[in-house]
Order: sequence, then structure tokens, then C-alpha cells
Amino acid sequence: MVIVGAGHGGSTLAALLRQAGFDGPVVMIGSEPHLPYHRPPLSKKFGDPGFQQPIRPPDFYADNDIEVRTGASVTALDRSSQTVRLSTGERLGYAHLVLATGSSPRRLAVRGSDAAGVLTLRTIEDAAALGRSLEARGTLAIIGGGYVGMEVAAVARSHDVPVTVVERENRILARVASPDLSQRLTDYHRARGTDIRVDATVTEVRQQGGWATAVDLADGSTIAADTVLVGIGAIPDDALAHQAGLACDGGVLVDWCGRTSDPSVFAIGDVARRPINDTGDLVRLESIPNVTDQAKQVVAALTGRPQPEPEVPWFWSDQFDIKLKIAGLVRPGARIVPRPGKKPGSFALYHLGADETVHAVEAANAPSDFIAGKKFIAQRTPVSPGALGDPSVSLHEVTAATPVGS
Ligand code: NAP
Repeated sequence: MVIVGAGHGGSTLAALLRQAGFDGPVVMIGSEPHLPYHRPPLSKKFGDPGFQQPIRPPDFYADNDIEVRTGASVTALDRSSQTVRLSTGERLGYAHLVLATGSSPRRLAVRGSDAAGVLTLRTIEDAAALGRSLEARGTLAIIGGGYVGMEVAAVARSHDVPVTVVERENRILARVASPDLSQRLTDYHRARGTDIRVDATVTEVRQQGGWATAVDLADGSTIAADTVLVGIGAIPDDALAHQAGLACDGGVLVDWCGRTSDPSVFAIGDVARRPINDTGDLVRLESIPNVTDQAKQVVAALTGRPQPEPEVPWFWSDQFDIKLKIAGLVRPGARIVPRPGKKPGSFALYHLGADETVHAVEAANAPSDFIAGKKFIAQRTPVSPGALGDPSVSLHEVTAATPVGS
């Protein structure tokens, strides 16, 4: 078994294979110099010394007979001979190969974006650089109001760093959140001093002596900035799959158990476009729960165990003291039912379809709503919108009639 990529996906897959009793050789190859580590703390805790968190203790891999090659990448995949070539010049044969190569930050294509002080955030080194800029107490411009941008903005404002977020859509978190949630979070960030500009286009990063000094926008305004963080999305690292002739379309196409167009090659995580439960549509989900779910499916396929039921997709984000958890996929056109939470300021936004089943729930400091909402989604339980919006009605009593399709 050769696993290409030593991130959350690769590491989880290797561990689950051993847990399932797979006793063949397992080699995991990762281009970074580190053993697998947690990425979520990079955007949430980059100012703290504790942001570097290994996923498993260093001894875990040797103890479980998992060979980890760090600082090495796979440069070619030859499917006819079932071999990969490494950057070290070595060749490795495989019976099964799993692509867990992840994604890379999209680059900002404007003049000056190569200046020193223009950063992206994906690795430990990136987070350390961002932490240093925080210590310098400069001014931060963040391009992109996605998860990276808004999590970093919250940390930086908590350290009193002046922050401006520049988003080209008409609202922050447009890809992942409902307009209602975007608005509530915008208000929360603005009340804590973040300058948020939407519908905004960056035209240039100004520099002096090679260092970024400001960001120019198309409306003629200029934002002074010592550090410019670019968080404008992630691009799947599917070059190897393309080169090997695997079916790709905005990511490597896989079936319900993670198999690509070649039965001996699988792909999981950010790099894969997989079917999802309710529609069978192929989607690329960028989250840890997604890659964990896919790793379980690949292990079941390889060890001949029953396929686990796919999990409802879910995501989490920490912004200031808000613990945000989203279950299901947020789609336009849903009827949104807000439900006030138990703690002051906490809330949940339930997304209902025409048949009054729950399609998604966005929960802010409302863990019971997240758990209940995720269950409603999985069971396709119709709910009574009136009862759902009334916090005096228990979540056990908001369901109506019998599950759709039963
Ligand atoms: P993201 O969530 O896709 O958000 C990027 C935002 O930047 C989008 O709204 C995008 O708008 C906007 N944008 C694109 N080009 C722009 C430009 N030139 N100027 C201004 N705005 C622009 O991506 P991200 O925040 O960079 O995150 C990167 C990856 O890390 C993703 O995989 C994300 O899921 C992951 N991540 C996840 C978490 C979490 O789950 N809590 C935390 C951190 C990172 P368009 O849609 O129009 O392109």
C-alpha cells in the first residue's frame, strides 16, 4: 500500500488500515519535513506556541509498521507497471495506491503579489511566519473572507492588530454559509474592529524595497498593510492524477468507496471529488470529517468489510468566542428557520427543503442544535417549522410525522 500525502487523510488511512488488520507493507510519502500534524490550529492558534500539534506520537508509525517518508514527493505515477517514482530517484511498486495529496492555496494574480510580507497559510512554516508578523504588531490586510481569512482576522483582532478583510463576493463566507449567517458574523467581526470590504477587487499590492506596504482596490481606495494574507481558496493537488491519465474534473473523480477510474488507485480528501449522500452529485469537500469518512470507506473496500454509511458532511470554525458548527451542505433557496440558543448570543439556523426536511444546520455556540440537526439530516426527518423556531419546544418534540421515504 502506497499512500501519497502525509496529511490528515494519509495518516488516518494508514492507522485505520492497521486497525482493520491489514498486514501488508504500508508506505506513506509526504513532501513536508514533518510527521503528520493538525492543520486546524494553524489558522486558529498561530499566535500561540501550541499551534504545532502532531496527529499521532512519533513512535506510532514505527510501532505500527508504517513507513513514513517525509521530505519526499512522488514525481510520477506509472499505472501500467504499478510503480511510483520519488523525488529521491527511487521507484516503489504498489498493489494499491491512495492519493491523499490535499490542496494548495490559490495564488493572487495581481502586480506585487510576490512581495515579501505577502503570505498564504497551509503549513507550519506559513503559520510561524504569520505569527511573527503578529508579534511585529503591524497592519494586516487579508484578501479573501473565507474560513482562513475570518479565523485569522479574529485571532489578529484579539491581539489588537488592525485588520482589513477584502472579499470579492458580496458577503464573507459566501461559499460555505447562508447569507443570514454571513451577516451575523460580519456584524460580530465589525463590532470587534475588523474593517470588512465586500464586492471588492484587489488591483495591486504596493511595495517598497521588496516589502508589501499597501493593497490597492479597484474602487480607488488603498489599504495600508505590512502583512498581506492571501486566503482566496484552495486548488486540488491533482497533477499526479492528471499526468497518469486518471479521470479528473476539478479534482480526482471517485466513486462511493473512494476508487478512481483505475480500480487499484483511490483518492481521498481535498483532492477528490466524491458523490454525496442525498443527491449523488460529485463534490469536493475540504474538511477533516470528510477525509476521515472517505478513509473509512477506502479501508472497508480494501479489507472486504461492509461499506460504512457515509456521514453527513460537517465543518467547524472558531472565530473569537464563537464555536461555529455546520452540518449538511448550504444551498441557495432553502427556507431558513432561526432558533435562539440556550446561551446569550447563541443560535442555530435550520435550512429546510420544500418537504420540510432539514438539509443543513448552522449552529453558533449551540452544540445541541448541531447534534440534533445532523441527525435530522441523516434521518430525513420532517420537522414542524413553528416548533423548531420556538426555543421553549424541546428538540425532541420538533419532528413531524414519519421520515420521508419510509
Ligand atoms: P475559501 O473558504 O474558499 O474562501 C476564499 C474566499 O476568497 C472566497 O469567498 C472567494 O470568493 C474569495 N476570493 C477568491 N479570490 C479572491 C480575490 N482575488 N480577492 C478577494 N477575495 C477572493 O478558502 P480559504 O479561506 O482560503 O481556505 C482555504 C482552505 O482551507 C479551504 O479548503 C478551507 O476549507 C480550508 N480551511 C478550513 C477551515 C475550517 O474548516 N474551519 C479553516 C481554515 C481553512 P470566490 O468564491 O468568488 O472565489
